[in-house]
Amino acid sequence: MEKQPHIIMIPSPGMGHLIPLLQFATKLSSHHNISSTFIIPNDAPLSNSHSHLLNSLPNAITYILLPPVSFHDLPPDAKIETRITLMVTRSIPSLRQTINSIIADKNIVALFVDLFGTDAFDVAIEFGIPHYLFFPASAMTLSLFLHLPELDQTVSGEYRDVPDPIRIPGCIPVHGKDLLDPVQDRKNDAYKRVLCNAKRYVMAKGIVVNSFKELEGGAIGALQMEGPGKPVVYPVGPLIRSGSVESDKDVNELSCLKWLDGQTRGSVLYICFGSGGTLSSEQVNELAMGLELSEQRFIWVVKTPNDKVADATYFNNNSENDTFDFLPKSFLENTKNHGLVVPNWAPQAQILSHSSIGGFLTHCGWNSVLETIIQGVPMIAWPLYAEQKMNAIMLTKGLKVALRANLNENGIVDRLEVARVVKNLLVGEEGNKIRIRTQELKEAALCALSNDGSSKRTLDQLASKLSNKI
Ligand code: UDP
Repeated sequence: MEKQPHIIMIPSPGMGHLIPLLQFATKLSSHHNISSTFIIPNDAPLSNSHSHLLNSLPNAITYILLPPVSFHDLPPDAKIETRITLMVTRSIPSLRQTINSIIADKNIVALFVDLFGTDAFDVAIEFGIPHYLFFPASAMTLSLFLHLPELDQTVSGEYRDVPDPIRIPGCIPVHGKDLLDPVQDRKNDAYKRVLCNAKRYVMAKGIVVNSFKELEGGAIGALQMEGPGKPVVYPVGPLIRSGSVESDKDVNELSCLKWLDGQTRGSVLYICFGSGGTLSSEQVNELAMGLELSEQRFIWVVKTPNDKVADATYFNNNSENDTFDFLPKSFLENTKNHGLVVPNWAPQAQILSHSSIGGFLTHCGWNSVLETIIQGVPMIAWPLYAEQKMNAIMLTKGLKVALRANLNENGIVDRLEVARVVKNLLVGEEGNKIRIRTQELKEAALCALSNDGSSKRTLDQLASKLSNKI
């Protein structure tokens, strides 16, 4: 009898990349009897949230941590994209060894890498394993990545200096300054790494994208248009973390949910900047003062401010400390009856599904966006890094399911703007309109995942190809 089909998954660091890939693997195992091994490159011990997640996997999914790579030779200001790509590149010898040690026991039908891991394609080729790309971000971002080699050839100078908006196939036009971070400085190593990965995407046998037709019809239509050398694109989203994971239940989780139980339906704003996002000290101060001014209920996942970079905790979201000394003095006292601050990490999926939540102030990380859409919660877009400005434009101008928190001339969202946008979303006229559209999108998402829905059918089709090695 043929052994159970098995997949090798190679995630890059960052919860935002690991969570959807694990969801994908979980669906393949529970609906299609395809098991998987996560082979994980890293540069340091796993964070608590990573460990919780990996230690609560179903039996069909196992994981192997590769020996940590060293970044001692990188300049201190090396960008995330350089580090993530190099983490995979420098893990290639141990990856080869690990695959070699499991290949005889398993019926390996595919190897999936995520967006910055295309160097691992070479190892798949050596072992004759079909290789795929898993794209955890939007179809719009995927469309940009696939279009990037052409843009690189046709645009001279920086994209942000191009006067007209950049046309990404199938997408709402975006000004160059709002494209993802690593393409903002074409001389930086991060741009070269992104471009190099993007050029290799066409080597993939197929690309799985965490989106769905009803959400991004234009981009997905363009991606699925046949053309020479274009990999097949499979939109199977939204792949999101849902429900509660027992081992994840810590004191933060219990206290957040208990606090939410005591609030009025739809009255609370949830505020979180993802696994990696950090604000400057001045920005934390203005946000706090603005929340106080708004007089609305809130639950805020607070991280220690960082005045240098916006993605300070991307690689390791463990806390530096759990005290709130950096918040304005009277803030905690003045808001104690209607606000809750949580240090570093909160059970986001459970919070968003709570009936007391009436809005989400988000950094627009793609997982956060999808988790919010599936719950029909209206958003305030406050993008920080990576491709989040593109997501914010899609949400505010394209789908119209979010309000935008605007920066002042000093690049800060000041307290009056915070109060304005929070009130507008929770109790204003604009918020009402957005709430209706968000509900429609929620229905569309549930429909895509239902038995005859677009994403379910696409996943079935892919799983059948994988199982039969077509
Ligand atoms: N997340 C969470 N609690 C937190 C912060 C983040 O559960 O306090 C989860 C969130 O639900 C999402 C992921 O971490 O699944 C963050 O992914 P996203 O793409 O939104 O942002 P990133 O962290 O990659 O910037």
